[in-house]
This record gives sequence, structure tokens and C-alpha cells, in this order.
Amino acid sequence: MHIHEYQAKSLFRKFNIQTPEAVLIDSVSQAGDACASLGDGVWVVKAQVHAGGRGKGGGVILCRSIEAVENACTALLGSNLVTPQTDTKGLPINQLLIEGGQNIERELYLGLLVDRQTQKITILASTEGGMDIEKVAAETPDKIIKFGVDPLGVLTENNCASIASKLGLKGNLATQFNTTLLALYEIFTTKDVSLIEINPLITTPENQLLALDGKIDFDDNALYRHEDIIELRDVSQEDEKENEASEYQLNYISLDGTIGCMVNGAGLAMATMDLIEHHGGSPANFLDVGGGTTAERVAKAFELIQSEDNVKGVLVNIFGGIVRCDLIAEGILQAIEKVGLTLPIMVRLEGTNAKQGLALLDQSEFDIATEADLTQAAIKIVELSA
Ligand code: GDP
Ligand code: MN
Repeated sequence: MHIHEYQAKSLFRKFNIQTPEAVLIDSVSQAGDACASLGDGVWVVKAQVHAGGRGKGGGVILCRSIEAVENACTALLGSNLVTPQTDTKGLPINQLLIEGGQNIERELYLGLLVDRQTQKITILASTEGGMDIEKVAAETPDKIIKFGVDPLGVLTENNCASIASKLGLKGNLATQFNTTLLALYEIFTTKDVSLIEINPLITTPENQLLALDGKIDFDDNALYRHEDIIELRDVSQEDEKENEASEYQLNYISLDGTIGCMVNGAGLAMATMDLIEHHGGSPANFLDVGGGTTAERVAKAFELIQSEDNVKGVLVNIFGGIVRCDLIAEGILQAIEKVGLTLPIMVRLEGTNAKQGLALLDQSEFDIATEADLTQAAIKIVELSA
């Protein structure tokens, strides 16, 4: 689960990580008071969306007058922000964080994540923080300091001091860095975090270390034991269809292509998407209907796929192992009876009761194409959806 920057910073403050003074607003009329309470001079208006790269997408605006702040708020609130990390639709901006502008001396990067290869919580730090950290990691990986914490041990003051020194932090700044890193580690381990990041972590001319940005992702599998975190969920930032799908235990991710896919098993779903691409098409979604699926769930899946505007055709690819193909066929027919058949549909069934399933589809009043061979099925649905 993702949370907003303002929520991450509020958690930071509880753990003694320093952040700039800020006010959260959700209407332009609150902007004037927010600025006044933060003091004169420079303000930064920051769109609260569940995506990074906001600076590059125009979602972080530096303002030198209250009028400029109000203009920025008017432009941002109610619009969608598109960043290098969102799709082309972007994410809705319902809230803005107004911060007192900071004098930035240095922009550092500090993050923690679970490194599956080393099986350790790994600290990443860099002197090259700011908006291009992905570029730094890709082009000059030696500028990223990595430190894996022994899962059976603890993160020590010495570990922190050594990273601070590599970042060129001395004296008071090194002390503040220790506090910050130990706190991040504490949040990470006590809240079942999968990624926590401060980018940039800045130093100011007044020798302050401040978290100018905050990003936290939580491990969904552990959310049940963190009521306080579940409360931070903002469904406006999530894909409505994906949420609807998860209520039916469907693993669904919408994509930009034109061919809707309904497949059982994540691996088979990936292979089906690859095959569509290979034959010149593009998948409109990833959808795993799961192993022990029911006719109702298939009907729901079909409904979801058909409701996406970009879908021009549907490919169903089911390998009946535990699931029976005749049940899948019934589900497809149920869905079509409910929502109608407006798109070309190609069904490939293989495995348990495949014959019965295909017979049900062939005998139905609807025009449903069937194929025994997956490659042929992919080629034909690409043609039918063109
Ligand atoms: P992101 O693009 O989504 O990661 O959003 P950030 O919160 O990191 O903001 C993007 C960039 O805006 C930062 O890297 C800073 O360079 C700049 N920025 C953010 N807040 C301030 C501020 O208070 N003062 C100044 N001068 N720059 C800021
Ligand atoms: Mn950032």
C-alpha cells in the first residue's frame, strides 16, 4: 500500500525525523491562511498523489507571493497529475501540501528496502539526491552507497556514522543523520514497510538536515496488524477496476493496449500477453482469474474487461487443471447474457472438460470464436481486434 507525502512526513515527525513546516489544504480558499501561518517569503505547493516524479510533472511549484501560491493551487486542485511514473491519465490531485520554502545546500538521497537477493534490509544512500536519482543509479551506480543490515542483528550507531561519513556529513549534521537513519529503520521494521525513501534529504545553511520529500510503501500482507496504517489508505489514488476485481479475488491490472485477456494462472497470463505482443497486438490488461475459480467470478472478470474503453477484443485462455473448462464456458455465457457481446471474443480452452466447455460455447446463440491452439488463438484475436 502507498501513502501520500504528507502522511509519510507526519509519521517521520512522530519518529523525530525533521521535516519543513507545512499545511495540508484541499481548497484554494485555504491557501492564504496556510501561507500566513508558514511565514513570509517563499512557499512550495506540492501535489499529493501516489506517484513520484511530481517535480518533473509540474506538481511541485515554487512560489514567491501569495498570489502565485493561489494560482498554483487553482491550477493543480481538481486536475490530474501526469508524471514519468504514472500512466497517461495521471492521478487526481485532491490535496496540496504547502510548505515553507527551504534554502537547499545539498540534496542527498536516503532509502531502505528489502533486497531479495541478499535477504537483508538494505540502506541506500547517495550524495546525488534530487530528481534524477534513477539516472544516477543507472549510469553511475558507484555513487550509491549500499549497506545491508544483518536480519539477526541491529543497525548500530557505528553503521550510521560510517554512512554519514561517506556522505561527507560532519559534526551536528552527522548526528542528525544518525537520528534520521535509526528512525527510518525503526519505522521500517515496526510498520512492516517494503520501501521507505527520503529524496531529497537536504542540508541547509543553518546546518539542519531536513526530509524534503517522503515516500513509504507498506507490505500489503502485513497490513492486518497495522490499523493506523490501513486508515491512511486513499482509494482515489487507486484504480477503481483493480479494486473491484480484488473484491472478487481476481488479480487484475489494467494496461493501455486493446486486447482484453482472461487467463488462469499468473505465468500463463504473462505468456499469453507475450504471445499477443509477439503477433503484433497489445494487451489491455493482465488478469489472473485464479485456480479454483467459479462461473460468477469469470462473469465478473468478463464484465470488467468489457467495461474498459480501450478494449477492442477479448482473448480467453484457460488451462483447466483444478478448474473445469465447462464452468468457465458457463461463466462466459452468463457474462455475455448480462452485459451483451459487443466485441470479438476468442476462447481457447484446454484440459479438464475442455470438450464440454467448447461445445457449450459452440452451441450458444452468440458468435464466439474458439481455437484449440494458443498461437492460432493469439493471431486471430489480433486480426479481429485490428
Ligand atoms: P518528487 O519530484 O515527486 O520526488 O517531489 P519532491 O518533493 O522531491 O520535489 C521535487 C524537487 O523540488 C526537489 O528535489 C527539490 O529540488 C524541489 N523542492 C521541493 N521543495 C523545495 C523547497 O522547499 N525549496 C526549494 N528550493 N526546492 C524545493
Ligand atoms: Mn522526491
